Amino acid sequence: MDFGAAAVKTVSESRRRAFERYLAEGRNGEMGYLARNLEKRFDPALLVPGAESVLCFLAPYGQASGGVAGFAQGVDYHKVVKDRLFAVMQDLKAQFPTFDGRPFVDSAPVLERFWAVEAGLGFIGQNNFFISPEYGLRTIIGVIVCNIPADRFAPHASLAATDCGACGACLHACPSGALRAPFDLDARRCLSYLTIESHEPLPEDLSSLEQRRGWRFGCEECMRACPWDKPLTPLPEFETHRKEMERMSDADWASLSEDEFNRRFADSGLQRAGYGKLTK
Ligand code: SF4
Ligand code: SF4
Repeated sequence: MDFGAAAVKTVSESRRRAFERYLAEGRNGEMGYLARNLEKRFDPALLVPGAESVLCFLAPYGQASGGVAGFAQGVDYHKVVKDRLFAVMQDLKAQFPTFDGRPFVDSAPVLERFWAVEAGLGFIGQNNFFISPEYGLRTIIGVIVCNIPADRFAPHASLAATDCGACGACLHACPSGALRAPFDLDARRCLSYLTIESHEPLPEDLSSLEQRRGWRFGCEECMRACPWDKPLTPLPEFETHRKEMERMSDADWASLSEDEFNRRFADSGLQRAGYGKLTK
């Protein structure tokens, strides 16, 4: 996993305003949790008292298969990355006897992409993905907010690029109009949100697999179009269900019983969407 450390601070006014505008326009859809704990989201020292730094880790995952996003081809990434972060924390405790901190993986009011940029790991693309010049777009960002100052860690190597280059390919690739303009994503139209997070029925014009270009769980159209996308060697835990995903036809999904789904995918992120959504 690539690594960088950022000194804790209140997030920039421009980032804060952009996030508040996103919420005010309702572009977060049903993800109401994004509007909670805003002060903590904008200041990690309120989330973890005594925090001095945000340590950011990039966990690589592989390609999509079977209409299922690449990050969901194995064990739920929340668990995979958090387990890795707990192991890192053990090492940090050995290195810094006064170490104290908490790990977060897309599970708390933390602006992970902002901190990954601050830590010198990459930049935000016009498709809103965090992009590492070295790793591309296929990474989960895990963070440890801790009491060790950022300057106690080696700085990340300087980047080969500091912005995506604005080719516009992601905007043209989006099948649903969710990516309305550079950096302007409306989650309510985004297939990743609609097929994973939303509890509402899919919009009529995206209800069939054909309309969704075969996407059953997630969507990677704006990722695949991006020239920064590159194949990675994924963490092995991210790959444990890949073979069965590749084997399953649409008919297999449609005939899968709920018990069988829960048995086979008990440890998978597919549980976030649930049986009903995956088998339609
Ligand atoms: S994930 Fe898919 S639907 Fe969402 S913005 Fe990207 S291309 Fe559009
Ligand atoms: S597809 Fe082009 S515009 Fe979109 S994020 Fe990638 S480089 Fe930037």
